[in-house]
Amino acid sequence: MRRWVAHGGVALPLAVAACAYGVFVLPHASDYALRVLTVAGVYALLALGYGFIFGQAGALSLAQGTFMGVGAYVSGILAVRYGVAFDAALPVSVGLPVLLALLVAIPVLRLQTHYFALATLLIGQVVLLVATQWESVTGGANGIGGVPPLSLLGHPIEGRLPQLLLVWALVAAGAVLAWRIVSGRLGDAFALTRLHPVAARAIGIDTGSLRLAAFLLSAGFAGLAGSLYVHAIGVLSPDVLGFPVMITCLTIAVVGSRLRVAGAIAGAVVIIELPEWARFLRDDYLLAFGCILLLVVVALPGGLVETAERLLGWVGSRAVPSVMAGRVPAIFAPADEARMAGTRPAMTEGVGPFIAARAGDADLLTLVGVSRRFGGVLALDDVALTVRSGAVLGLIGPNGSGKTTLLNVVTGIFPADAGRVRLGGRDIAGRAPHAIARLGVARTFQTAALAAELSALDNVAVARGAARLGVGSALRAGRRDRAVVRGEAMALLERMGAGAYAAEAAGTLPPGIARLVEIARALATEPRLLLLDEPAAGLNETEQADLGRRLRGIAEDGVGLLVIEHNMPFLVPLADRMVCLDQGRVIAEGTPAAVQSDPRVIEAYLGTPPP
Ligand code: ADP
Ligand code: MG
Repeated sequence: MRRWVAHGGVALPLAVAACAYGVFVLPHASDYALRVLTVAGVYALLALGYGFIFGQAGALSLAQGTFMGVGAYVSGILAVRYGVAFDAALPVSVGLPVLLALLVAIPVLRLQTHYFALATLLIGQVVLLVATQWESVTGGANGIGGVPPLSLLGHPIEGRLPQLLLVWALVAAGAVLAWRIVSGRLGDAFALTRLHPVAARAIGIDTGSLRLAAFLLSAGFAGLAGSLYVHAIGVLSPDVLGFPVMITCLTIAVVGSRLRVAGAIAGAVVIIELPEWARFLRDDYLLAFGCILLLVVVALPGGLVETAERLLGWVGSRAVPSVMAGRVPAIFAPADEARMAGTRPAMTEGVGPFIAARAGDADLLTLVGVSRRFGGVLALDDVALTVRSGAVLGLIGPNGSGKTTLLNVVTGIFPADAGRVRLGGRDIAGRAPHAIARLGVARTFQTAALAAELSALDNVAVARGAARLGVGSALRAGRRDRAVVRGEAMALLERMGAGAYAAEAAGTLPPGIARLVEIARALATEPRLLLLDEPAAGLNETEQADLGRRLRGIAEDGVGLLVIEHNMPFLVPLADRMVCLDQGRVIAEGTPAAVQSDPRVIEAYLGTPPP
């Protein structure tokens, strides 16, 4: 039982309660009660969809009610005016809201928080205006009556109970689909995008497409909800496009738990049924409702489901293992992890299992004439350099000489103003960061870009899972896949000598260790070019020597390394060649010994010519 609680969260108790309710209460319920519960099912589907854009993608869309309304109008009009049955119309009643979302997404989706919220709100106003003004088709302000009941394959579903069962069967199917999406690798990609978008792009997650996918999914669920709604209540009215629908949906998401599939369902039942349960309050109902809502929002920030999970986890003594929670899932001891995955962590510094070995000595990254200006500052000025496969290029230069900017230009964070950036013969200048990462370029940041709330192990595991995301693997969920990915992540942490920190929250790690975790995460993407921004900062001398050996091992596997460092005792033995930048220009290039003793380099560092 304890394990079930730990792995199923509140889904199992909820399912048991639902079954008991279905068997013992439903057969004796009044028509009115059945109708209310049917509407709750419709809202559950609406909120399940809303969970993608509002929960997973973290964007406050106010168009979810509009998408539901469009689904209702399409299905209602097709049924009344053209005699198309509920199920036959589904491709259109789901497809049109999705199409509308796609059209809206082009100008609106890249907007930031409040602008996005406002834009989605205005779209709702436009659609409402069309619905009330285009009377010949929509019935205007009066809407259309006589919408036929739900039907399946030509059989009308008469009676309140069968209708309710159909709606809730679709809720169950929708919940399973949503659960597979959010608990698999796609869910991990969403989580990292929420927690650290820069890091997400750096490991190859296309954050823009992810947000679009969430928006379209939410519209699809809303379309289905709208279609069910109009057939279940039998009339089409502009009320379905009204703002109260959106407010209800938002309330359900917040009260239920916006990151939980069970939250959408529990929230819908509570919010839709609450007015019925609180009937005895009569006129004071709204006041009581408001107070309860306020209490939940203020006192239970994760919503009802996350609160219930915390209580169950407390009872079961183990927390619920999920990166979706945004909490530190220190569930398993590291050794436990590796055993679960059936892999032994690679303890040695020899050939690791995750690095695609390639023939060395080929030119991998070539920069020619690269320049980048920030206002009046020429951060990079006609820079040329080459990184070879299987070799380490050291990049030195005083503070502000353009080293980090060079990494940002190579990885697509800033476009170059001029010049060419070639990776293995392919021009990558101007490509998006995630696209460049997918071509095999991994990096670390001067200040480690880890998701502070996740454990060191989860930071690497998320990258391991999300970096190889395909259409098939996106929906692969379950403990097996997760255990394999986490076992591989553990081996990578061990390879960087950070295995002992696997269970610690990344935000609490010392900076030097955080950077080792970040290198392990970079390796999780199986790069052929690895760019490190001051990796030895914050490490003591013994740790630096250790890191040097590990980096050398990575290069020997065929990866090309570009290492930015000030620390000469660390860099000189590690680098095959070195380049020195000063005020954006390459002032020396050659063997470490030659560059280190070059008079211009000494002058750049000391500010005076050598004696
Ligand atoms: P380094 O990493 O060698 O210390 P940087 O590449 O961080 O140097 O900075 C090079 C120059 O470019 C500095 O003058 C810095 O102020 C400027 N610079 C870097 N990034 C930005 C930015 N995003 N906006 C404006 N100026 C920047
Ligand atoms: Mg820098």
